[in-house]
Amino acid sequence: MTRIARPDPEMSNSVMPVDPSALSIIRYPDPRLRARCRAIERVDETVVAVARRMLELMHQAPGVGLAAPQVGLNWRLFVACPSTNPEDDAVFINPSISPVGRQLAEYEEGCLSLPEIEVSVMRPAEVTIEATGLDGRTFQMSGDGLAARVWQHELDHLDGVLIIDRATPTDRLASQRKLRELEEEFKPVGR
Ligand code: ZN
Repeated sequence: MTRIARPDPEMSNSVMPVDPSALSIIRYPDPRLRARCRAIERVDETVVAVARRMLELMHQAPGVGLAAPQVGLNWRLFVACPSTNPEDDAVFINPSISPVGRQLAEYEEGCLSLPEIEVSVMRPAEVTIEATGLDGRTFQMSGDGLAARVWQHELDHLDGVLIIDRATPTDRLASQRKLRELEEEFKPVGR
C-alpha cells in the first residue's frame, strides 16, 4: 500500500501547472464561476504570468476587470483597469474590501462571462480595498465611482457570485432569454 501525498486543499497555486497562454475567458453557466476561490499562498512566477495574461485578455475583450475564476482558476486574484489605459493596470491578490460610509450607488453592470447581459446593481458607493500586489507587498487603496464598482464586482467572482444574483427581479427576468441561450451554448469541459 502506498500513501498518496495530496496538495493542501486550502492553498491553490502550484497544485497544478498552469499554462498562461492557454487561458481564455469562460462563460456562464460554467460551474467554475460558482466556486469559492482559495487564497494564493505566495506570489511566484506562475502567478505573475497568469496576472499578465489576464490583463491581456481583459483589454482584448475589452473589459475593465477580470477575475481568476473567469479564466477557470480557483484563485483569489483579479485584475482591473477602470480607465482602460494600460498604465493603470492593477493586480489584486487575496483582496478584501470594506465600505467607506453608508452611501449606496446604483450602476448598470456587465460581465465578460455573461455577454450581452446588463443589470442594475446596488453597491456601496465608496470602498477601501486591501490586497497583495505582484511584488508580494500588501497595499491599500480607496475609490469610488467605477473603480469601487469594478473591485466589488470582481471580488464577488472570487466567492462565486455573479451579477444575476444581485440583479433586481425585473432585470433578472429581462435576462432570462439570454441566460437560457448561454446555457444551451455551454459545453462542459472534456466533452
Ligand atoms: Zn464579471
